Amino acid sequence: MKEAVGLMGGTFDPIHFGHLAAAEEARVRFQLARVIFVPNGQPPHKPDYLPTPAEARYEMVVLATASNPGFEASRVEIDRPGPSYAVDTVHDLGRQLGFDTQFHFIAGTDALLEMLTWREPEHLVQSCEFIAVSRPGYELHELQEKLPSDLLVRIHMLEVPGLWISSTELRRRATAGLSLRYLTPYAVVRYIAAHGLYSRSPTDSPGLGL
Ligand code: ATP
Ligand code: MG
Repeated sequence: MKEAVGLMGGTFDPIHFGHLAAAEEARVRFQLARVIFVPNGQPPHKPDYLPTPAEARYEMVVLATASNPGFEASRVEIDRPGPSYAVDTVHDLGRQLGFDTQFHFIAGTDALLEMLTWREPEHLVQSCEFIAVSRPGYELHELQEKLPSDLLVRIHMLEVPGLWISSTELRRRATAGLSLRYLTPYAVVRYIAAHGLYSRSPTDSPGLGL
């Protein structure tokens, strides 16, 4: 039988408990052998936004996932030049892990509502299952209204503990010197402080909750 493996893509700038809680719920409910977190190299959907260097976003993902033996971080997108497309990632990871893997692509409702703008969505749904996780501020049922039935048949809806957290909000808070504790693992809070990420000047010493 094929091994069920979760795959969660994102900019992860920075990773936070919203990502981690959703991935953990999907891992347990869908009996996934593991969940691989894949930080984007160059996000195709955020062309005007200059993200934190991929290496730093990847390191934060490594720190945040280290304590869960069911979680892993992958460099597949950050090591691949050009924009990151999910369809290429599933293909590359399939080659790395062997084609006996059944991927379950985990994404929030906001991300899946944009699915028709992704590259080759029809091809992507042939190569993996989808788990749409709930996210405060978005309605899972909107997917039914917006997406065609050939995509919907491959999408499983999953209610997860609702955490009203976004990376945008964490970046804003860090810039404003507000605490990030209890929004992301402490190791990530320390990493952000040590590298002066999101602060107005590298010499700022923001509160961050250290
Ligand atoms: P940004 O504010 O920079 O867009 P984000 O918090 O949305 O950051 P992303 O890296 O864009 O994080 O998201 C990666 C994936 O995680 C997406 O599929 C997104 O829908 C999902 N996700 C992010 N935050 C949550 C949350 N609080 N609950 C459930 N899913 C989430
Ligand atoms: Mg987002």
